[in-house]
Amino acid sequence: MQLEGKTCVVTGAAGGIGRETVLEFCARGARVVAADLRPDGLEEVVALAVEKGGTAIASQMDVTVAAQVKNTIDLCEQTWGRVDVVFNNAGIFPGDDGSVLETSEETWAHVMDVNLKGVFLGCRYAVAAMLRCGGGSIINTASFVALMGAATSQSAYTASKGGVLSLTREIAVEYARKGIRANALCPGPVNTPLLAELLRDPEARQRRLVHIPVGRLAEAGEIARAVVFLASDDSSYVTGTEFTVDGGITAAYVTPES
Ligand code: NAD
Repeated sequence: MQLEGKTCVVTGAAGGIGRETVLEFCARGARVVAADLRPDGLEEVVALAVEKGGTAIASQMDVTVAAQVKNTIDLCEQTWGRVDVVFNNAGIFPGDDGSVLETSEETWAHVMDVNLKGVFLGCRYAVAAMLRCGGGSIINTASFVALMGAATSQSAYTASKGGVLSLTREIAVEYARKGIRANALCPGPVNTPLLAELLRDPEARQRRLVHIPVGRLAEAGEIARAVVFLASDDSSYVTGTEFTVDGGITAAYVTPES
């Protein structure tokens, strides 16, 4: 199996992409610490992974609190002796994040705290643990909006994802010779709870779909399977990338007629 014996931490594990990644990791032989703020969703995904024959344990935590991030990485290391993969994936997308004229300082600070500081803390403790065991793979969830601008802006969200991308590159370069790989995952729009609210409005939905060459949103499993590749030794020469899984969005100038 592609991830046989790997020990992994997944944040945002109770949500769309994180949840599917926990299940995909377990199905391919990994042992997983599933981490999230929400205890209910966490229990559900861990129970499901175990029911399917996988090895998963839960860590209820907040990615903005250093001690809780450290505890989560420590849990993986103490339970299984090493930390091979950390998927820093937890993120928020508040409805009141808009243009620079609209976004409040509070919203800006909150988004930066979760989406950027949360990834920074995850990388700090991941790198420390991976240095102790001779290497590993860090995958940080950015977004296609880190690569392109939109007139329907979410200033704080977009800026936070740009930060994730830049931070990931630095880590990749700095620790490459220590056996640590770091890649920024850049999904296009995904059919998860995070987007569901926004896209309930048919007009808003169509405005997004028209820019996607494949003509549909991604399913969370399609993103999770890209994460499996980045986590596995199949991607041993892949580091420092902006790994797009976006249905062709960033390649498009004009999209096909639907
Ligand atoms: P989701 O809302 O379904 O899941 C996110 C999870 O993160 C939730 O379970 C939530 O409880 C958890 N979380 C939020 N704040 C946290 C905190 N402080 N500490 C710990 N956990 C916390 O969202 P998703 O669509 O699965 O998004 C996962 C990642 O993918 C996010 O970083 C998001 O920005 C990114 N992304 C999503 C899309 C999309 O279209 N859905 C596109 C590109 C990138």
